[in-house]
Amino acid sequence: MRWTRSLIPTLREDPADAEAISHKLMVRAGLVRQLAAGIYVYLPVGLRVIEKVNAIIREEMNRIGGQELTMPVLHPAEIWQQSGRWDAIGGEMFRLKDRNQRDMCLGMTHEEVVAWLAAREIRSYRDLPQIWYQIQTKERDEARPRSGVLRTREFLMKDSYTLDPDQAALDVSYNAHKQAYGKIFDRCGLRYVVVDSDPGMMGGSGSHEFMAPSAAGEDEVALCAGCDYAANVELARGVPQPASPSPASMPEDAGPREVATPGSRTIAEVAAQLQIDPAGMIKSLLYMAGDTPVLALVRGDHSLHERKLARALGAEPRPARPEEVRERLGVSVGSVGPVGLKGGVRVIADESLKSGPYVVGANRDGFHLVGVRPGKDFGCDWADLQVALPGEGCPRCGQPLQVERVIEVGNIFKLGTKYSVGLNAMYLDEAGQQKPIVMGSYGIGPARIAAAAVEQRHDADGIIWPWAIAPFHVHLIPVAVKDASQMAAAEDIERSLVSAGFDVLMDDRDERAGVKFKDADLLGVPIRVTVGNAFIKEGVVEVRDRATRVDQRVPKSRVVEAARVIEAVQAMG
Ligand code: ATP
Ligand code: MG
Repeated sequence: MRWTRSLIPTLREDPADAEAISHKLMVRAGLVRQLAAGIYVYLPVGLRVIEKVNAIIREEMNRIGGQELTMPVLHPAEIWQQSGRWDAIGGEMFRLKDRNQRDMCLGMTHEEVVAWLAAREIRSYRDLPQIWYQIQTKERDEARPRSGVLRTREFLMKDSYTLDPDQAALDVSYNAHKQAYGKIFDRCGLRYVVVDSDPGMMGGSGSHEFMAPSAAGEDEVALCAGCDYAANVELARGVPQPASPSPASMPEDAGPREVATPGSRTIAEVAAQLQIDPAGMIKSLLYMAGDTPVLALVRGDHSLHERKLARALGAEPRPARPEEVRERLGVSVGSVGPVGLKGGVRVIADESLKSGPYVVGANRDGFHLVGVRPGKDFGCDWADLQVALPGEGCPRCGQPLQVERVIEVGNIFKLGTKYSVGLNAMYLDEAGQQKPIVMGSYGIGPARIAAAAVEQRHDADGIIWPWAIAPFHVHLIPVAVKDASQMAAAEDIERSLVSAGFDVLMDDRDERAGVKFKDADLLGVPIRVTVGNAFIKEGVVEVRDRATRVDQRVPKSRVVEAARVIEAVQAMG
């Protein structure tokens, strides 16, 4: 490809609104342009990257028996009503009406369409298993579209769906996907970890996420260096460090005793006033789950994870407003506690609070109770509620956990029968019995892969593409395009590289060398070949490895060989 005949609008300045490195670099390198919040145009070079990712995904999906199809973006409301998600999903779904006032929506994901299709096309156990996949546009009105193409409102997804007769067969399909995903991310050159995850709104019995470590990520995972424990912090259970021993002022078995804590409202203020470790206190947080008030308890030095609370309750709670706290408990936020509550408040405590005693709010402004033992001095349900912290013990082996920021690039779910029951996707088993098809669903974001690769691989000058998803393999620069012998040599090199299977971009602009080198660094093509003065004087061209910036001078006839060596080294990772 020739630069002068291509649309590659590189920019010297970062876009004003960009924070994530991948956002800045993908705009500056001329890969994407933002049409509106979270809605992007992929320019030719950007599209080349996405197509390379897609080709890898297709190969690995086909290898496990995936069959490609395409499902619509525009959906009738009925199928979403049948699964229950028309009401369960909030503002993230784009909804519209057709000209006859029928409710429609734009597909965020395709479990419903798959179950609808399976209900019509799958009859007996002989038709199973099936793996269906598509690489198709999803529409989601994300609350915070940002970070460039890492989180957009319209995006491409490879989504696949497995249909199986039973749980054991689902496990086989699921494991095939887990393996295939590993190969896809390996081949794309990403660093990633596979973690246990929370199935959330998908429902179902098990799920994993594929996470690319990066400061630009919106998720956090807890990882253990001692064993292979790895989980999203939404799920991870750290074993907390014990609290420092309480000072003598905290009686061991005397039962709760009220102490004055005038003016202290926060955990830190009360702990300072009573001269105790915040870990010796309980943080009491009032939530509303529908109309039910729920008092959630975590240790004073911990934070509550709202998703963990939601999972424990089986409902989405919201924090109670200060006036609701006063109305329900008769006290201000800073003095709320679990002892002697009015009826109708459900108390749910983090499992780390099982031993005691603790200091808690006294439900009387300006007072706390010391020596409170959960389970004895108040009743409660137990659940895992706290955010796992770095340095806490691994729940499997006890070694200290690390917590890392990550970008979710893919995830896999064992769905079970939620969608097949809702949409009546049944099959006849060998005994002639009607049974619901057991489903799995599996997603990957090609744009997220591309952006995560940029986050993980760049330097101050630009992108450093992994070989397999680079828009081109070789960036060929004739320094003086008006010099006929340089141009002829560059064209020769281009021909030999292309016939050896390399994707080549030739920068044939009549620009200063410095400008072309800057753009080459920005674009991040793995190999740069420069035809300049050295060619005229000594008959050699310069071959540069973008990642290591190591230069070699080789005769024109040896460029293909030099490129093959760099390719081979990069293929080894
Ligand atoms: P997230 O938690 O980041 O919102 P998700 O759990 O909603 O992701 P899925 O619905 O499972 O994601 O989608 C599968 C894959 O699609 C994700 O792993 C990710 O790679 C990609 N993806 C999801 N949402 C977006 C988005 N808004 N923009 C770009 N890619 C996305
Ligand atoms: Mg999402």
